[in-house]
Amino acid sequence: WTCNTMFARNAAQEHTLRHQAEHDALTGLLNRGAFDSLRQTLHSQGDPMGLLIIDVDKFKQVNDSFGHEMGDRVLKHVASLLAGNFRSMDYPARIGGDEFSVILANTDSDQQKAILEKIAAINHVLTHPADDLPAVSLSVGGAFSVEGFSDDLYRRADLALYAVKDNGRCGCRFYDDSLEKAAPG
Ligand code: GH3
Ligand code: MG
Repeated sequence: WTCNTMFARNAAQEHTLRHQAEHDALTGLLNRGAFDSLRQTLHSQGDPMGLLIIDVDKFKQVNDSFGHEMGDRVLKHVASLLAGNFRSMDYPARIGGDEFSVILANTDSDQQKAILEKIAAINHVLTHPADDLPAVSLSVGGAFSVEGFSDDLYRRADLALYAVKDNGRCGCRFYDDSLEKAAPG
């Protein structure tokens, strides 16, 4: 009798512990550790995929002007918009303080237009907040790989993100070769 109940309780606790280990406590998205594990798995599997790296624009100003708690509410709002706008097969993650990523499973560069539209819709919501939240926006860099996750895929998405930051923020662009020449150093 109690054995079965104890087993069920342990299984539930194990499930909770595992969930806590893999998810970010503030936003509920996958955390940095889970993102890094997924990165290894997707490197080994080698399937076509897309990667978005996302950073909140001028987020320090949100904390400075409205306080850290309001900053936290903004981060939760960003997380829920990412989770709500991408497909259930994709993986939104919080990979740093105000930095997020979405791993786009089985995706190739044909999907660029659809992705741009999603980011534009999210930025529209964030810049026209319904309640008492301050307006914010996202800068997003994207890149694609036909052979799974790699360090170069990450580097390319990051280069595209910094091009958006340099170009006035609030937007999304995808990696292309011209970003290599534009890169400093
Ligand atoms: P940029 O447009 O260049 O990204 O400007 P920025 O102000 O957003 O600069 P940056 O990305 O470097 O700033 C990130 C800020 O996020 C700094 C840090 O105080 C804040 N931050 C990091 N983690 C948290 C958190 O969990 N909650 C809150 N409220 N703020 C956080
Ligand atoms: Mg930022």
